[in-house]
Amino acid sequence: MARYTGPVCRLCRREGQKLFLKGERCYSDKCSLNIRAYAPGQHGQGRKKTSEYGLQLRAKQRARRFYGVNEVQFAHYFEEAERKQGVTGENLLRILESRLDNVVYRMGFANSRAEARQLIGHGHFEVNGSRVDIASYLLRAGDVVALCEKSRGNDKMKAVVEANSARPIPEWIDCNRETFEAKVVALPNRDQIDAPVEEQLIVEYYSK
Ligand code: SF4
Repeated sequence: MARYTGPVCRLCRREGQKLFLKGERCYSDKCSLNIRAYAPGQHGQGRKKTSEYGLQLRAKQRARRFYGVNEVQFAHYFEEAERKQGVTGENLLRILESRLDNVVYRMGFANSRAEARQLIGHGHFEVNGSRVDIASYLLRAGDVVALCEKSRGNDKMKAVVEANSARPIPEWIDCNRETFEAKVVALPNRDQIDAPVEEQLIVEYYSK
């Protein structure tokens, strides 16, 4: 399935919630949700009533858009989450959080997950000492993610790391901004995941 290439603020407006898809702008007054806090399109300001299915669909779409995952891959993650032991919704979130693009973003080495995907694709990151250019690479506890030696002197990378230095890093990632590397201490529990995801509704969506 093709990647969405349209205006990303439209996605936040559709979900009625900040999905932080644009980096710095998301934290400023220029955020589109501050200016037009209603759904896009001709009927964006119209009827608000949503069916049960509509709520489940929106929950799934919101999570998918937040993590930048396409429909097929998201369904694949859900199947994997169902196969694992434990609570399916929590398993799903843990899988999404363990993606390399998400961890690079959480480390503060990219302004957004989309930018993290681009940097990974361009070969700027390595995992356990080997270069990895697949954004969907799933990390495990103990894995070490680092900016490649060659990229550490890159002015753009330095600026990105500097710009994101105030962004809090989740406790399950042990990040050292000085050495440009981070260790996944353990995969997160639900209460360690800061994401606008209603996983129970997603489980209900796929259970139909
Ligand atoms: Fe969403 Fe960021 Fe655009 Fe605001 S600026 S609508 S949070 S992508």
